[in-house]
Amino acid sequence: MGGTGIVWLRKNLRLHDNPSFKLACEKCDVVIPLCVLDDLLVHPSFSSPVKTAFYLESVVCLQEELRAIHSDLLLLRGSPVDLLASLSKQLQASVYTEFDAEPELRRWHKLLARAIQPSGEQLHLCIGNSMYDLERLLSRLPSGRAPARQSEFMKLVSTLGLPEKPVDTLTSKDLPSLDKDIAKDIMQMREFVPEACPAALDLPDEYTEAWEMPRRHWQGGEVVGLAKLASFVGDTDALARFNKAASSPATDDGRPSTSGLSPYLAIGCLSVRTIVAEVTGILSSLVGPHHGLHCGNSVLGQLFLREFFLCLGASERKLDTCVKGTNSLIELDVTWDGPADPKDLTYTWVSQRGCAYKCPEQSNVREEGDSLEASPASGTAIMDVEGGKQEQYDMSEDQLVMRWMEGKTGFPLIDAAMRQLNKEGWVHHSLRFLCAAFLNRGGLFKSWVIGARAFARMLTDCDWALNNSNWMCVSGTSSIVGAVPTRDPTEFARSGGYAAYIRKHVPELRNLDEAYIYSPWLAPDHVQEAAAVRIGEYGHDQTVYPTPMVDINERAANALKQFQNASRFGELHGRSKRKAESLVETEWQEWVSHAQRLCEKAQLLKKRKESTGRILGEACTCFERAWMTMGVSSPETVPSSLTGGAFDVLQGWACALRERGQSLLNESPPPQVSRRGLCQFGRLCLAKDYFKKARDKFDAVSCLPEVCAGGQCQLNRNRCLIDEAKVLRCMKRFSLFTERVSRSMCEEGATAATLLEHAVASLRDIMSRSGDKKGDAQFLLASALALLMRSDECREELTELVERHPHQRKVVAAEDSFQPFRHLDWFQDVVQDE
Ligand SMILES: Cc1cc2nc3c(=O)[nH]c(=O)nc-3n(C[C@H](O)[C@H](O)[C@H](O)COP(=O)(O)OP(=O)(O)OC[C@H]3O[C@@H](n4cnc5c(N)ncnc54)[C@H](O)[C@@H]3O)c2cc1C
Repeated sequence: MGGTGIVWLRKNLRLHDNPSFKLACEKCDVVIPLCVLDDLLVHPSFSSPVKTAFYLESVVCLQEELRAIHSDLLLLRGSPVDLLASLSKQLQASVYTEFDAEPELRRWHKLLARAIQPSGEQLHLCIGNSMYDLERLLSRLPSGRAPARQSEFMKLVSTLGLPEKPVDTLTSKDLPSLDKDIAKDIMQMREFVPEACPAALDLPDEYTEAWEMPRRHWQGGEVVGLAKLASFVGDTDALARFNKAASSPATDDGRPSTSGLSPYLAIGCLSVRTIVAEVTGILSSLVGPHHGLHCGNSVLGQLFLREFFLCLGASERKLDTCVKGTNSLIELDVTWDGPADPKDLTYTWVSQRGCAYKCPEQSNVREEGDSLEASPASGTAIMDVEGGKQEQYDMSEDQLVMRWMEGKTGFPLIDAAMRQLNKEGWVHHSLRFLCAAFLNRGGLFKSWVIGARAFARMLTDCDWALNNSNWMCVSGTSSIVGAVPTRDPTEFARSGGYAAYIRKHVPELRNLDEAYIYSPWLAPDHVQEAAAVRIGEYGHDQTVYPTPMVDINERAANALKQFQNASRFGELHGRSKRKAESLVETEWQEWVSHAQRLCEKAQLLKKRKESTGRILGEACTCFERAWMTMGVSSPETVPSSLTGGAFDVLQGWACALRERGQSLLNESPPPQVSRRGLCQFGRLCLAKDYFKKARDKFDAVSCLPEVCAGGQCQLNRNRCLIDEAKVLRCMKRFSLFTERVSRSMCEEGATAATLLEHAVASLRDIMSRSGDKKGDAQFLLASALALLMRSDECREELTELVERHPHQRKVVAAEDSFQPFRHLDWFQDVVQDE
């Protein structure tokens, strides 16, 4: 023990489990706790008012804790490398701090180590932000690079066991009191900051306002962090039941439904090892040692996801690039609209007052603090330049991003979430995802790096590795996790019941009822008047809530096209193929669910005897988009991996068309859906075992009789070798049969009884000519019934007919959802009776 040590406290603002602080206390007899408020922490370009307030509050908390044990936390403002290098030389002190994967931090560490080495001092980097020593872990891997998927990472981690136990909390016994002379010298430095508050840092007024505002759920500091952890793990039932996927962003009191620990973890008010130790301790006593330690939606699962992303950060220095290239994790090259890099935007962020700031790193800014006066309405910005002149910038390209950041997109849930983010610096994961996908994939198609930069400035829990990894996941251009579908923000809000959440964060809309709160632009004038809100063009008038800034469907279609292009491109580059496919898959799934929702709405309208034409038209368009997105030219060419989905699309589409009096077979141009193609597709469905399941789920026969015919032929032969010729013959006969029945249905005055007669006669005819087995006959009869059921008049009569039959009970039981396959034996009896 001996010498002086500077403990550089930056993102490890705590006394518990703080290995670098502990090491300094063990090695040195003079320890100087120091916090350098650098640009990345407090410059307005990098840190929003609320994020800065949270950080400064945490600094104050640690300062108070240290003062209580006869030490202190000294504050400086400036460049950490310069300040620490000069102090280290002056005091002959080594520097102790925590490893951080962020490239800029690594660069600083390298520069600092180099600067102090000649005078015999060292930079000690300890592991405090992650559970494991990730660099050491990586060095043991042959490639030296992080596993590209979480499952592989988990395999690796499972060989290590649980993380080490947290180191003891520092007390007055561990910590030498601060050397008064040294403290005095530091206090006399030009860079010394007497008090951790925005005013002392000369920050704009809104920083002071945020600082003074009570933050109910997000008060910074180790003390609050530990109390939150205690209360979180104290509710042992909730802890054991924790399920991230089921957590909701919209709790009644605004308290997070998840742990809410991320901001404290991000700046080290809480140590991850402490959380893991507490949680595993409790879970082991509750459910035994095998409580699903590592994966999924449990708290530990989430913490291991964090660890995986931190590992990616430690391995990949290009984690913040959206461009494919060496060492980049991007697998799909997508050309985003507008600049790919935030540096190329006219501005970096816009304050609530319409003042747009640029990053110091942007070349055309003279000095830090130069600002642009932004005029959101005109899409221009004026910037003071040298010689007292002003320059005007065209911001139209950036305006969409700016409105997204401000929460003025005209999509209420996006706006509510972005405003919560601006105001509180935190928002639930699913809304982060929604907003990010809106900017990047489904809506604006802007580079995710631009979104990540904006989030980094706003999130109190921002971490370089976590933020960029999550954004990369949202973008779907890398396979670090499976692609997640984008959501239509209006539908997402409606189906999730976000009315109260929207009212809370978008007060302009607070009086609108459920009918309009999700789509206020549809509110007629008298509704707007009654709700004291005006919906109109985005502009200077802050009392007007804007109409949607983009046509979301058009944008989503554009995004899809771009992704398709990119995925086609990807196919040429072997490695991206799988990713490209999975992306395309998630996109068509979105179209299908959207289309299905529209069909449900159409059903409701139909019940209310309202017109369904428009909504069914939209549904058909969505089904068509889904089909096109699948990249399949005809049902015959559906790859077996897409069978289930293709069945959903074709079936739903056929239903929607049927409701409009159209048929899938007649639609042209694409898709080229032929009867033969559909029959062959039926076989594929069956081969995949999908058809068997699907036929119970849907009234499949009535919509896609051809598919079912193909499938049924296959079903009848599933114990024999597939006889192609026979299948085709059967399909031909089936077509003949369905045509006959359809023709009969069109005959004037046709009744169910006569139609059924036709059906049975046709069937007999077919059977006598083909001598086919009973199975086909059953199926064809079932199909006949399905065809008959298409006619409303016949339906009623047929039901009566059926009721008179000895096996009526079976049919009556299935009254609500008529499924012809269930009644095969009834038909069998009919055939025998006849
Ligand atoms: C676009 C986008 C950007 C994000 N940026 C960040 C970021 O900069 N910092 C950050 O901590 N989280 C980020 N997340 C992940 C996630 O939203 C937050 O970690 C989570 O909402 C924090 O709330 P919580 O503490 O209540 O989490 P809980 O659900 O209680 O989870 C416990 C802890 O696990 C970790 N965790 C949970 N989910 C994730 C995740 N998806 N990725 C990484 N760690 C996770 C966090 O440390 C969290 O505190 C981002 C998500 C998205 C979609």
